[in-house]
Amino acid sequence: MRPSFSHYLKLLIFVALGGVTTTHVPQQDVPSSLEALPLDGHFSFQDMSAAARDFGNLSSFPPVAVLHPGSVADIVTTIRHVFLMGEHSTLTVAARGHGHSLYGQSQAAGGIVISMESLQSNRMRVHPGASPYVDASGGELWINVLQETLKYGLAPKSWTDYLHLTVGGTLSNAGVSGQTFRHGPQISNVNELEIVTGRGDVITCSPELNSDLFHAALGGLGQFGIITRARIPLEPAPKMVRWIRVLYSDFTSFTADQEMLIVAEKTFDYIEGFVIINRTGILNNWRSSFNPQDPMRASQFESDGKVLFCLEMTKNFSPDEADMMEQEVNTLLSQLRYMPPSLFHTDVTYIEFLDRVHSSEMKLRAKGMWEIPHPWLNIIIPRSMIHIFAQEVFGKILKDSNSGPILLYPVNKSRWDNRTSVVIPDEEVFYLVAFLSSALGPHNIEHTLNLNNRILEFSDKAGIGVKQYLPNYTTEQEWQSHFGARWDIFQQRKKAYDPLAILAPGQGIFQKASASLP
Ligand code: FAD
Repeated sequence: MRPSFSHYLKLLIFVALGGVTTTHVPQQDVPSSLEALPLDGHFSFQDMSAAARDFGNLSSFPPVAVLHPGSVADIVTTIRHVFLMGEHSTLTVAARGHGHSLYGQSQAAGGIVISMESLQSNRMRVHPGASPYVDASGGELWINVLQETLKYGLAPKSWTDYLHLTVGGTLSNAGVSGQTFRHGPQISNVNELEIVTGRGDVITCSPELNSDLFHAALGGLGQFGIITRARIPLEPAPKMVRWIRVLYSDFTSFTADQEMLIVAEKTFDYIEGFVIINRTGILNNWRSSFNPQDPMRASQFESDGKVLFCLEMTKNFSPDEADMMEQEVNTLLSQLRYMPPSLFHTDVTYIEFLDRVHSSEMKLRAKGMWEIPHPWLNIIIPRSMIHIFAQEVFGKILKDSNSGPILLYPVNKSRWDNRTSVVIPDEEVFYLVAFLSSALGPHNIEHTLNLNNRILEFSDKAGIGVKQYLPNYTTEQEWQSHFGARWDIFQQRKKAYDPLAILAPGQGIFQKASASLP
């Protein structure tokens, strides 16, 4: 039988901790201590399997409880409760967005997982006007933000490739996609945040108000507080999108064209790219959703055995200005050095384009190929090193790209706010490179993880200056080296906002004091 609340009260031991009175709750009494908290939502203690799983499908750390918050006050009550348990409790708290982390980052072994999606739609409000914005809950999915803002003819400016991720989850990383070159990552597109810190304080922050916490939380890997609300600036939503793909066989021309496009004044609205290694019938595969400019020559094109580079671009347009868009697109395409038979395009609505990965998700789910392990590797590479990297990795370390897409596109540092917590290389242009592998069976997982390691080891030896995006490290030394000169400020901010290291334990950066005792 579980101890009663009065029994729990008898067990309270008060310990002084930096002027704060703390309560000692033995680990076995944690569930009853949580059950006694006054909440708008509720805790669940049964079947922790969903909270111990993520998109990566490679890590599973069951929590002791899942909080389904009915309000921000529930998050405050829970974190204060854990904070007051003091440093002798091992209890930690992880916000879980949509659980699309890769290596357990949104999990809390033996701790509390907060299911942020329970805080959704009742808090979303669009404010049209001269400087329009939306106030969205930290647990809101970006697809819902898009659907709501589109009702006002508005939309956020900076996106991720996939929209079934939460606002708080992507803002804790960076949020990058083909619009980043123009608008910066999602963390450069936030007016204000509401945060519950690791002390249980609710703080509204912005570049002007409590700016240190604001910048700490953006790209802060959930270390400084739980983002309960974000104010996102909006722009008039484009109606239609011309979506274009072309192929290159020469890496130098491919990257030179990408780099030219991201700095050009008149350019595309979205610029990405991907690497294709030894794939069969690539252009034939495109035909199901794209139209070839030259169907005859496209049908004769062979991709087998080759390393190819696909430049992917879009131009937004209104149906009544389609002619002007055609002209602009043709002018831009005439400056590029792609292989002519590979020019494909299609016209889709803005939402169809932004939600494109969801269509693939539905197909993969139908085949049982979505909820499988994803040993992904996401890295950032300085422009000066991208050729050395490509020469060794594409075709040598990686002999094919059959296990999943490899994204590769440049962005410019001037669009990133260097006061945030995200770590980027020290060059004006750098490349986002994502190896998005799926793996079936232990052999495949091991094989892919080995390849990832070989890529990282080579990069290390060759002094490429790689930084991991969605970083995954296990030792403090690795984290120190990841943050480099920014490690000191990261640590200072942790002490200020989450002194007991309660939050986001799954990132493996800091350990709660007693959790590290033998
Ligand atoms: P979770 O994985 O649940 O959480 C991520 C981290 O943030 C955890 O440490 C968690 O504790 C913390 N956290 C979650 N919510 C909050 C909150 N409200 N406040 C504070 N901390 C919080 N990323 C890109 O940048 N660009 C892309 O194009 C892109 N495409 C993707 C496509 C797919 C199919 C997938 C699976 C992921 C993609 N990602 C992309 C990565 C994505 O940004 C991360 O998975 C990120 O973790 C967001 O997922 P989530 O909302 O499920 O957050």
